[in-house]
Amino acid sequence: MILTELPRTRFATLPTPIEKAERLSEALGGPEIYVKRDDMTGRAMGGNKIRKLEYLIADALRQDADVVVTTGGPQSNCVRSTATTAKHVGLDTVAVMYGTRPDKLYGNFMMTKVLSDELVFTGVSDRSSVDRRAEEVCERLRSAGRTPYLIPRGAAISIGAVGYVNCALELMNQLMDQDIDADRLILPSGSCGTQAGLMVGAKWLQSSFRIEGILVSRPRAESIDRLVDLSRKTIETLGMDLSITEDDANTYDDYIGDGFAVPTRAGRDAFRMASKLEGLFLDPVYTSKAVAGIVDLIESGEINSDETIVYLHTGGEPLLFSLEHGMADDDFEPEKPY
Ligand SMILES: *Cc1c(COP(=O)(O)O)cnc(C)c1O
Repeated sequence: MILTELPRTRFATLPTPIEKAERLSEALGGPEIYVKRDDMTGRAMGGNKIRKLEYLIADALRQDADVVVTTGGPQSNCVRSTATTAKHVGLDTVAVMYGTRPDKLYGNFMMTKVLSDELVFTGVSDRSSVDRRAEEVCERLRSAGRTPYLIPRGAAISIGAVGYVNCALELMNQLMDQDIDADRLILPSGSCGTQAGLMVGAKWLQSSFRIEGILVSRPRAESIDRLVDLSRKTIETLGMDLSITEDDANTYDDYIGDGFAVPTRAGRDAFRMASKLEGLFLDPVYTSKAVAGIVDLIESGEINSDETIVYLHTGGEPLLFSLEHGMADDDFEPEKPY
């Protein structure tokens, strides 16, 4: 077991709190709901990418890289988090983004633009267009005598997923300390690195709770393949002796709506509920859809009223300050006068 020996740059604010969502539990008629606040990992508005980057940035430094190449959309939490943490350790950042340059500065893109040393746009909306372009950018940087370190979309590679093996350990300790007997840990899943890391951690620690991902980006079959593949690679990276199969990859694909980053009505309802009842802000792309999923699983009886669940809040707050947040003015209207 080499989890503690893997190079790690400690810049996250850890452990993140675990909080009881009493009013939400009551409103939904039963199950105890806890929120693991990974929106509070720190470093320019936090979120789940910060844990992955503790290991990825350390790996970049170990390889003597002087520039990090990061990929995603202009509103990517991952690109913003990478640029923030790279700057913190003195590395340059090139952000390779799909689509065209937004003409307004808002949300994540505002922060990414300020932090990056170069912005590259692929000009097409296809998300995978950044993969090829990033390779070309790395080639160009190498020819110019630089040493680039490429972080793929979502930072979804095994070294990043290790951050969530670590989170599983942190969470298990908190649950034990607070005498919480959890049945499920539920989170939004996109590029699948977060869930893969948690799956490995839960297996390793023989957790009593199931890890369940609410899919917000990719179809189910592709997600399961990614979860199994990434978990196995993470196990290899850590030199562990564990076996992961498709049966460990629990996912729900009913809450994506019309597609990645397209807000849903149920997501807006979940956003209102979490903010009004718990003072907790959800983003429209990931966490609103995850909580909408939890609400539906409870209402449909898939989650029983006597269960205890932990919702991993993966962050994404800057998306609330994006003009594409998908909320109408009405969504912010107070429901009752005081
Ligand atoms: C990236 C992201 C996710 C998804 O994490 P993956 O590891 O890509 O599955 C969930 N929530 C937020 C806020 C994110 O930025």
